[in-house]
Amino acid sequence: MLYGAHVSAGGGLLNAIPRAVELGCGALQVFTQSSRMWKPTQHDPADLARFAPLAAEAGIRYSLCHAIYFINLASQDEEIYGKSLASLTTTVRVAAAIGADTCFHVGSHRGAGLDATMPRIRAGLEAALEVLGDDCWLLLENSAGAGDTIGRDVAELARVIEATGHPRVGICIDTCHIYVSGVDLCDADAVDRFVAEVSGAIGLDRLRALHVNDTAAPIGSNRDRHANMLEGLMGEGMGVFLSHPALQHLPAILETPGPEGKGSDREEVERLRRVHEAGLAVRRSAAPR
Ligand SMILES: [Zn+2]
Ligand SMILES: [Zn+2]
Repeated sequence: MLYGAHVSAGGGLLNAIPRAVELGCGALQVFTQSSRMWKPTQHDPADLARFAPLAAEAGIRYSLCHAIYFINLASQDEEIYGKSLASLTTTVRVAAAIGADTCFHVGSHRGAGLDATMPRIRAGLEAALEVLGDDCWLLLENSAGAGDTIGRDVAELARVIEATGHPRVGICIDTCHIYVSGVDLCDADAVDRFVAEVSGAIGLDRLRALHVNDTAAPIGSNRDRHANMLEGLMGEGMGVFLSHPALQHLPAILETPGPEGKGSDREEVERLRRVHEAGLAVRRSAAPR
């Protein structure tokens, strides 16, 4: 498992690399623009070209660009839909330039239903996929399941992926979102069922990354409240999920608040390692000899 964290790209995308190294990461995630504005950041093309070689040199083996949260590919509002398309496409283009995957939330159908909004979602995805880099993936992130958000379970993610028919559309699973959607990631049987469902409905080859967050909100609450590692309701129990044999090749990227609410720190990455390794140890001791 490749430990990683969401880091700031403040002052330029290249600054994200030493920040991730400082935390002890082998993977990183960034916003390629301010997450609170539609306006895209103008990146220096020379910086974009230098990103992948510098990341590789620094031992960063996986990079993920998180698109902004305003994006809603299911919006019936033409202005929001147009902005969503432009923003997603811009993010995917930057990601392609730095050799990164892109993850994003599909959005909300606001009561119209997934069927009714699928043509817009498909068209939006197709526009973004036109600028997808040769080896890069576009990842749908599962939602916490609030309101009419799309991607609340494996079946919904599978339907959107199927609609694109593209070989490099995949998923990023967020541990907090899955848990508050009703899957107990601390329970070995529930984890086995969940992994089997992903395998059957989507294919494990399309599961490309994990967002690792503990949760401050209870199971089934559909409330998205990330907690620091070992400080939320899953605690050490998340090791049951993290140690699943089918997930060991994946980047596991923290999006926790951190001790001061400024993001994951080195201690968070250390806790991720401890929870993962403790989970592996339990599985080893339980395995038949
Ligand atoms: Zn996430
Ligand atoms: Zn979240």
